[in-house]
Amino acid sequence: MPLETDILIIGAGPTGLGAAWRLSQLEHRDWLLCEASAEAGGLAGSVTDEHGFTWDLGGHVQFSHYDYFDDLMDELLGAEGWLYHERESWVWMRDTFVPYPFQLNLHRLPLEDRWQCVRGLLRLKQERSPENFGEWIDAVFGEGIAAVFMRPYNFKVWAYPPEELSRIWIGERVATVDLERVIENVMRSRDDVSWGPNNQFRFPKHGGTGAVWRALASKLESVHPAKLKMRHKLVKLDTVGHVAYFDNGERIRYRRLLSSIPLDVLVGLSDLTEKLNAASLLLHSSTHIIGAALKGQPPESLRKKCWMYFPESDSPFYRATVFSHYSPNNVPDINRYWSLMVEVSESAHKPVHSETIIEEAIQGMLNTRLIADRQTVHHTWYRRLEHGYPTPSLRRDEALNQMLPAFAERNVLSRGRFGAWKYEVSNQDHSFAQGVEAAEFWLTGAPELTVNDPDRVNSHVSRRSAH
Ligand SMILES: Cc1cc2nc3c(=O)[nH]c(=O)nc-3n(C[C@H](O)[C@H](O)[C@H](O)COP(=O)(O)OP(=O)(O)OC[C@H]3O[C@@H](n4cnc5c(N)ncnc54)[C@H](O)[C@@H]3O)c2cc1C
Repeated sequence: MPLETDILIIGAGPTGLGAAWRLSQLEHRDWLLCEASAEAGGLAGSVTDEHGFTWDLGGHVQFSHYDYFDDLMDELLGAEGWLYHERESWVWMRDTFVPYPFQLNLHRLPLEDRWQCVRGLLRLKQERSPENFGEWIDAVFGEGIAAVFMRPYNFKVWAYPPEELSRIWIGERVATVDLERVIENVMRSRDDVSWGPNNQFRFPKHGGTGAVWRALASKLESVHPAKLKMRHKLVKLDTVGHVAYFDNGERIRYRRLLSSIPLDVLVGLSDLTEKLNAASLLLHSSTHIIGAALKGQPPESLRKKCWMYFPESDSPFYRATVFSHYSPNNVPDINRYWSLMVEVSESAHKPVHSETIIEEAIQGMLNTRLIADRQTVHHTWYRRLEHGYPTPSLRRDEALNQMLPAFAERNVLSRGRFGAWKYEVSNQDHSFAQGVEAAEFWLTGAPELTVNDPDRVNSHVSRRSAH
């Protein structure tokens, strides 16, 4: 006989845990959560390797649009459980560090690049409105900044040509250009940065980003023993009979189902495979995370830096994080070790070879002077994430508008970073909120703002993140 439940949640990442947390708050007791792996956290999980170094699955920085998300973070780890850092970021290019936003700090570039960037801005013409991300880059930044930074950097991040991306996700995420300020900064050789003591992010003192989600899972487990079923991988979904099948042979009959697994995978496991060929329109990139456990101390140039962007071809990675700066407990002994974590994107447009990428990343760290000597590498840690970034491709919404309602008609909500496939609402806070809002929608009928109105949600910054 299958188990029976009102609400079945698939996945114990931020989305699934958000839904369970809200159901628990609303005193709804008839739910179960099934997770394929042994630990909660999903892409926001962390791993401590056999040498005692902790790694995130890509450097996670918390920024929140929801006060209740921050309040829960406070509660889960306590006031003493967090470390606070300045949210400063840098671009490494032309053999130097340029503060971000790039366009406000052109004076750090060689003269020819500086002139190319300014000339591009002076030649900008208001023509027709841009139809894709590539056209948007040219229209907003001009051909100079596009060629020197925006196009190479964005190809490295997204692994798709910018012409294949829509501009729907941009919103607040990319700072645009104030020409007068750009030129004044160049003339005065002035650094123009938006960080400072009031612009902070926080990070768990122990256990990496995943500590938060493990804490939430244990809290739920203590209030609702046996509702979190780890090592339960969904392998088949009968949306007509409302039965979920798992790899251990278990079956669960549900009334409503919240899935946070990648939408293309969900389609493949379900009886809607034939109907939903729109799944092939969804694009994603994979992410390779390479951690370098390093002996000694970081070079002086990295002493205060948290993360940096890399647009040039002398390194395979687009971003590097000095992960031992996020917390000294991310390494076994901060007086003897430090750690770097880099991210490399992959797609059919940008192949990456798993067999050689670690060596390429180390060579990239040497080329960009993140490390001085190969001998300082104590060991490396590596993980490939098949689903890394949900690509905001040109036909994404056309695909989602077929798929999400088809599932919803059968009482299945697909939510979260890859469940709803909306990059613009795919960070931890957004994913958690999507789970919370799905639970509220089912129990109270309240609208799901995050998945349906990303611009509105993103225009609000939580109390804490606003500081
Ligand atoms: C490289 C990288 C950098 C990031 N940086 C940041 C950042 O700086 N700040 C930030 O806030 N966010 C960041 N994120 C995003 C953050 O990780 C996500 O917002 C969050 O993890 C999404 O939560 P989710 O629950 O929707 O999905 P996931 O975390 O993917 O969780 C889905 C869960 O479903 C489980 N699952 C999958 N298939 C099955 C199955 N068949 N049966 C049962 N369970 C299954 C998985 O094991 C997983 O636990 C980053 C992500 C990546 C990849």
